[in-house]
Amino acid sequence: MEEKEKFIICNHCNRFIKDKQDLVVAFDLFFMNAYHSECYAQRLKSSFFQGNNPVNGHVSNKITVILGLAGLLIVFTDFYAYTALIILQLGIRLYSWFKFERMLE
Ligand SMILES: [Zn+2]
Repeated sequence: MEEKEKFIICNHCNRFIKDKQDLVVAFDLFFMNAYHSECYAQRLKSSFFQGNNPVNGHVSNKITVILGLAGLLIVFTDFYAYTALIILQLGIRLYSWFKFERMLE
């Protein structure tokens, strides 16, 4: 069986991103885009609209885990006002994984 080659195109340099370690997913104003880690650093210096917290970074992963656990606690409490925030963060993280990260090894 033939194995398909998976890749993503960097939004900055238009070259292929083939390694998950080199992938940075970040918001560019309202749109989620993929960058090489080096291209992301270059864009971060030059673009006012470039988000400085990558969606697939350590900080975002920790926030997702914390909000996921908070979501479990909400079931037992009355803090429903935070539900939208939790769903938004989990949705963003899931979308990043589905659109970009699952394509790479
Ligand atoms: Zn690039």
